[in-house]
Amino acid sequence: MVRHQPPEEMLLDYATGTLPEPVALLVAAHLTLAPESRRDVRNFEALGGAMLEELEPEPLGDDALDNVLARLDEPAPAERNRGRRERAASEEVESGSEAGLMPAPLRRYLPRDLSSLPWKQRTGEVAEYELLKDAPGFRTRLLRIRAGAKVPAHTHEGHEYTLVLQGSFSDECGRFARGDVEVADGAVTHRPVAGSECDCICLAVTDAPLKLTGPLGRILNHFIDM
Ligand code: ZN
Repeated sequence: MVRHQPPEEMLLDYATGTLPEPVALLVAAHLTLAPESRRDVRNFEALGGAMLEELEPEPLGDDALDNVLARLDEPAPAERNRGRRERAASEEVESGSEAGLMPAPLRRYLPRDLSSLPWKQRTGEVAEYELLKDAPGFRTRLLRIRAGAKVPAHTHEGHEYTLVLQGSFSDECGRFARGDVEVADGAVTHRPVAGSECDCICLAVTDAPLKLTGPLGRILNHFIDM
């Protein structure tokens, strides 16, 4: 069971299609693992649809007939929402299976054979694989943290969104396991520690560099690109 859902406004932005692509991808992957969040997104979508239907009709003008004829060509609200519903349905099917580590929305960005994923070792204990490299202003990475390893203490110049795909990590904000999302910003300084059960694999999206804290970290910031 997912314990840490993304904040409500993030799910609302997802429902209205206003999240930037990397964050939307992270939410889409989370939704395949979290029925509660799927329900929230569906409620937001239904609310949006109902509000559209209640909009005041325009007063009739000379071009009223033209307008009506033009609107006949437009998809009905139900039709407009169908794409989303189909998407949600496929997400639901996904959640029922333990078959894949990688949620379907993520798989299209990854090589078919996950064992051949060219992980890049960042430190002795953290490896990464970067995806969505062309999304301006964002870094989107799969991180693999060795079981039991500590990530250096850091804070954030912007936002850091983390979705756990395998294993778990714990930090000052709690324990995060498969499907959980942590959103951290400059107000959060943390030192995530991977659970000892297995390597922890996360999808991490950042919109600004991390800032290592502690005396050594402050020096290292000048040399490494987190
Ligand atoms: Zn962080």
